[in-house]
Amino acid sequence: NHKPRIVVLGSGYAGILTVARLQKLLRQDEADIILVNKHDYHYLTTWLHEVAAGTCDESRITIPVRSVIDTERVQFIKDTVMEVQKEEQRVLLCHGEALTYDYLVVALGYEPATFGIPGILEHSLTIRSMNSAREIRSKIESRFADFAARKNNHEKLTFIVGGAGFTGIEFIAELAERVPALCDEYRIDRKQVQLINVEGAPGILANFDCSLAEYAQKSLESLGVSFRLSTRIKAVDPEGVTLLSQEGEERIAPATVIWTGGIQGNTVVCDRVFEASHGRIPAEADLRIKDYDNVFVIGDCSSFIDKRTGRPYPPTAQIAIMQSQTCANNIAALVRGGPTLETFEPFMKGSVATLGKEDAVGVVFGMKVKGKLALLMKKLIDLRYLYMLGGAKLLLSRLRLSDSVEP
Ligand code: FAD
Repeated sequence: NHKPRIVVLGSGYAGILTVARLQKLLRQDEADIILVNKHDYHYLTTWLHEVAAGTCDESRITIPVRSVIDTERVQFIKDTVMEVQKEEQRVLLCHGEALTYDYLVVALGYEPATFGIPGILEHSLTIRSMNSAREIRSKIESRFADFAARKNNHEKLTFIVGGAGFTGIEFIAELAERVPALCDEYRIDRKQVQLINVEGAPGILANFDCSLAEYAQKSLESLGVSFRLSTRIKAVDPEGVTLLSQEGEERIAPATVIWTGGIQGNTVVCDRVFEASHGRIPAEADLRIKDYDNVFVIGDCSSFIDKRTGRPYPPTAQIAIMQSQTCANNIAALVRGGPTLETFEPFMKGSVATLGKEDAVGVVFGMKVKGKLALLMKKLIDLRYLYMLGGAKLLLSRLRLSDSVEP
């Protein structure tokens, strides 16, 4: 009697919660469950911008994978997925042997999308993983150190953030909050530091209505951020950046560029293995990939159409978390030979963007929230997630950590 093998690729929000649910749903004798991830920790991607800006210690947002999975039930493999061979039903890893599967969950997250802008990948920084967030933090600090060493009172120390979506806005707000401390540390006049957000659309935070976006913009301007709206990044080079707007081209150099302008699904699987649309693999109603009855795609690798708008839902942790539950239920049903699979029906609770540590803005259950209330909502969203992942034990240990660790 063949015991089916379920292989889950990626231990981000989507992958780790799928495993957490599968280990509850299926008995030991019903299936083998294997989780593969590059690192032996899970991180809260929604906080990476704080690590990148240096306003949050990374220990607060990393959780050892083995501490939240049942290691008796689930085999965890720390390795990098190099290739998925869909016809052979196996996964090639960087170090280990090929892994065959009966059911596969593709949850490998995102990569930056460059939209063909020259120099973005080579010369700008992107928030795509814990390692990249650490790199951004140390680059920012070394730019301050180098600038201080040059002692030139006429130059500006310029940081340009490309993109005014969630990530770009949350990141530049954190950076703005860190700048006074960095200026003190390196004895630089705050007026010499420029933080510029560049956005192709005429407004920021396109998913929010105008009143919330304007509130966010004013809040950031009060922290010293300036905006170039209706302006695109034309090219990035080792020295700086060329912008393009109706007024023509503008050159800003020297400048450090952090690109947050768009994402696509992980290219290990998107298009290379499974056909993608706008960089993400379309998921069917039950979250499987068309023509592959035993392969599920969830999280940022997937695109799932919102029936109300006819467009894919934006890639968010909220969607990834909800998909993980449907995905696990459907795999359990298939393992048990159940006749019908669940349809994924997302119930959007809303979203909140932080504007530094003192302000936030968002929509929760259809209600617009700002300021302290929005900050509280964001905290509740995070706490709920931790509870879902590791129960009261994880929640309490994290609360204790956030009391004791200061960046
Ligand atoms: P991820 O969380 O990215 O996980 C992918 C996993 O796959 C990672 O563990 C990675 O190490 C692993 N992996 C990748 N490649 C390989 C490989 N080749 N081999 C092995 N392992 C691999 N969403 C919200 O809902 N609300 C927010 O407030 C919000 N804020 C955000 C702020 C920032 C700064 C960012 C960057 C994103 C934010 N998002 C937010 C979006 C959200 O973080 C993503 O939608 C979510 O992380 C998607 O989950 P995932 O499991 O698909 O991918």
